[in-house]
Amino acid sequence: MKLPKKIKMYCPSCRRHTMHEVERVKNRPRSELKAGQRRFRRVTAGYGGFPRPTYEGREKPTKRLNLRFRCVECKKAHTRPMWRAKRFELVEVD
Ligand SMILES: [Zn+2]
Repeated sequence: MKLPKKIKMYCPSCRRHTMHEVERVKNRPRSELKAGQRRFRRVTAGYGGFPRPTYEGREKPTKRLNLRFRCVECKKAHTRPMWRAKRFELVEVD
């Protein structure tokens, strides 16, 4: 699906409708200092396989969108429950 790069929507901190910039959320590189990553390194080290079973079955045809809406006026970002889409594109609309 296509979505405009700027959307007018409700901002909870301005408490009114303002323009929002739509950002796609990217995965950040995992921090080696976090507890989960340290546990993962400890479990995968040495003898023994991967700690989680490999997923068997059909891969899901769609992925859930992960977007962040940033208010142009107060620069605060908020999220909302997102839907699934096969393809996603941000388009420039004048
Ligand atoms: Zn705002």
